[in-house]
Amino acid sequence: MQSKVNLENSSDKTNSKHTNKLSSIESDLRYAIERNQLELYYQPKIYAKTNQMIGAEALIRWNHPKWGIISPNEFIPLAESTGLINEIGKWVKHTACTQIKAWHEAKLPMIPISINLSATRFLERDLITNIVQTLKETNLEAQYLEIEITESSLLENEEVVFSILDDLRNLGIKIALDDFGTGYSSLSYLNRFKGKIDILKIDRSFINDLSNSHEEDSNFIVNMIIQLSHQLKMSVIAEGVETIEQLNLLQKYNCNTIQGYLFSKPLPATEFAKLLKKDRLE
Ligand code: C2E
Ligand code: CA
Ligand code: CA
Ligand code: CA
Repeated sequence: MQSKVNLENSSDKTNSKHTNKLSSIESDLRYAIERNQLELYYQPKIYAKTNQMIGAEALIRWNHPKWGIISPNEFIPLAESTGLINEIGKWVKHTACTQIKAWHEAKLPMIPISINLSATRFLERDLITNIVQTLKETNLEAQYLEIEITESSLLENEEVVFSILDDLRNLGIKIALDDFGTGYSSLSYLNRFKGKIDILKIDRSFINDLSNSHEEDSNFIVNMIIQLSHQLKMSVIAEGVETIEQLNLLQKYNCNTIQGYLFSKPLPATEFAKLLKKDRLE
């Protein structure tokens, strides 16, 4: 098992060492794709009533020869600031679509897979043409690709954002609003995206705070987000579900789709394929 590095809490004694590590990682990132060091892991999304897997999220990992597995929380911000995110984003899309197709050809059940899109990537002019091209190259139907964006993607020029969302919708690609509840959007703001965003993903921090005591504020907030999404005709998913207690509360509030360590951690493709073969997860 490779160890994780944490750039923020680096044990390096001096700042200059830390800077060296950062800049070495930054230059290494340029070659990560061609050196085959990037990998997608897949985490199941479960329909709580039946324990069936109804989708999955693709999450990127970097297998660094010196530092071990580097978390996306560490290198995605670097990729964004250096502009490498475009190339990485294209790699993610292509790899995910190729993988879904391969599972299908291996006669495994077809489920939609979501990919995460950085706000900078979401607003790139060539996003739509690139998606269309990838679907064509991999011969994949659009309904099997979903996109997770965060609120920051929606804060740009509204006309531009609406036209991108409409283009994605017309292609048949579903859009989820990730980390929901952690941004600054008001409820009326969300209302403007009715019919344009398909799924609300309740941020892990709220799920983490869910407790069995009924007075807790976070229980109220989670319940409210679920009812809100039903009102807006959006589907809702809870991420970061780790305990049976959390699952029970979410079911009580009618949150149908669940993702989290309780069912499975994100898995490498070969291990994930074994889960795909199962009818339901326990
Ligand atoms: P995210 O999209 O909010 O992804 C959820 C994170 O929570 C993932 O961390 C996942 O492994 C973790 N997680 C899932 N279930 C549980 C649970 O039950 N408990 C706990 N404690 N954690 C859980 P990960 O894989 O390290 O990804 C971190 C972030 O990096 C993601 O947050 C996403 O913002 C970004 N990211 C990952 N892959 C990509 C990618 O391909 N492209 C872009 N642009 N960003 C990515
Ligand atoms: Ca996500
Ligand atoms: Ca999230
Ligand atoms: Ca997050």
